[in-house]
Parts: sequence; structure tokens; C-alpha cells
Amino acid sequence: IIEIKNLRKCYGNNEVLTDIDMSVEKGEVVTIIGSSGSGKSTLLRCINLLETPTSGQILFKGDNVLDQHYDLPKYRTHLGMVFQQFNLFYNHDVLANCTVGQIKVLKRSPEEAEKVAKENLAKVGMEAFIHAKPKQLSGGQKQRVAIARALCMEPDCLLFDEPTSALDPEMVGEVLDIMKSLAESGLTMIVVTHEMDFARDVSDRVVFMDQGVIAEEGTPEHIFNHPTKERTKEFLKRVL
Ligand code: ATP
Ligand code: MG
Repeated sequence: IIEIKNLRKCYGNNEVLTDIDMSVEKGEVVTIIGSSGSGKSTLLRCINLLETPTSGQILFKGDNVLDQHYDLPKYRTHLGMVFQQFNLFYNHDVLANCTVGQIKVLKRSPEEAEKVAKENLAKVGMEAFIHAKPKQLSGGQKQRVAIARALCMEPDCLLFDEPTSALDPEMVGEVLDIMKSLAESGLTMIVVTHEMDFARDVSDRVVFMDQGVIAEEGTPEHIFNHPTKERTKEFLKRVL
């Protein structure tokens, strides 16, 4: 569904992504692991074009989204994003957080948007909080709302950038459980994470990034039990 070819990203003279080749099939869960500064967030932000790649191609269902004729606003609606810091609309209640995008971008009626919002809030166990404001919620609850909001847009692929890193430890599990059930439901997901158990148990494929390149990738079994590259072994020794 997504194919990345020779992707490079530079900030000034600083090349932070070099020759990234990666593909994600429909229904696949790909986790991206690697040290701080290795370029994981930059790669996600290039995939959804929050950052413009310096060169290379990103094919979505076979079409190059960097082509100047490509319909970018449409492309963005096909990808959902869940951030470390939730990025909720703090002046809106939970329900409105989940309906505004549907009404403004997908042009759904308020009634339909509300119905879809309630369904997705139920999926993440937040249906009892529709009239709460984000500031009244715990971190885990905020992240569950952020996931519901992304699901309301019916994305073809959902991108997560360290969705549990800002959470108190006791709330990490509730968010990972939801992500796991989404994975099992067949949603295509790309997840940047430091949660090695999640990467090992839930993903179909693990991508290990080091200094702006994909140093090694493979099944969780390959990466965690039989890594072949020295840098992968060193990284795992540090984090496991
Ligand atoms: P972390 O695990 O800490 O989130 P990361 O793997 O997500 O790290 P990135 O945030 O992608 O790493 O950063 C990769 C490199 O790019 C870093 O050296 C960072 O300083 C640099 N970088 C990221 N964003 C910018 C920017 N907007 N301008 C300049 N340099 C940037
Ligand atoms: Mg990051």
C-alpha cells in the first residue's frame, strides 16, 4: 500500500535520512525501532508529508505522492497519525475532537459524524467521556481519544510516533492493548516505539534504524532472536 524508494531528507547540510527503501503491505504492522536521533520521527513525518523529502519517491497504491499533480489533501486523509503528545484540540470536548475532521474534511453531516465518533470511542473504551474536555482526562485516556479520532477518518494506514512515551507507566498497557486489537482487526499500521515487547509480539516486521539508514529489517523472530548486524545486536543489548 506504501512503497518508499531512495528517500533522503536533509536539514541544511545535515542528512538525517539516507537511501530509505521500505514497503508496507495492506494489513501489515511494521514497527520502527532505533536510538534517539536515528531518524524514526523524520521518516514518519516524510511518509505523511508533514516534512517534504529532499529526494526519493513515496508510492501510495502505486502512485508517486511527490508528483506535483498528486492530490495531497486527499492523500493525507488516507493516513492517520497518533502523536506522543496526543495533539488533541483542547478547547473541544472529546466528541467534538472526533467529529470536526469528519465534518470539515470528509464533509459528513454532524449526525453521521457523531454516530461514527461514538462507535470509535466505544472501541477504545471512552464512550462514557464524550462531554469531557481533554484536560480532565488522564494521559492514557487522551491517547485513546486521539486513536479514536484518527479511526473516525477511516485511514488506510495509521502512523504512530511513540504513542506511549509520554504516559505514566501504569497507562502504557491500556494504550498498547488497543493498538494490539487494531492490529488484529487488520488495520495497516506503522509504529515507532520503544516498547520492545510490543514490537516483538504484535508486529509482522521490525525495521531497525541507525543514523538515518535502515540498518536491518525482518520478522520479530529475526530481529530479536537472530540479528545479523553488529549495530542491531548492540542496540538490543542496550534496550532489552
Ligand atoms: P527520538 O527517538 O529521540 O524521537 P528520532 O529517531 O525520532 O529520535 P528524529 O527526530 O527523526 O529522530 O531526528 C533525526 C535527526 O534529525 C536528529 O539529529 C535531529 O536533530 C534532526 N532533526 C529532526 N528534525 C529537525 C528539524 N526540524 N530541523 C533540523 N534538524 C532536525
Ligand atoms: Mg522521534
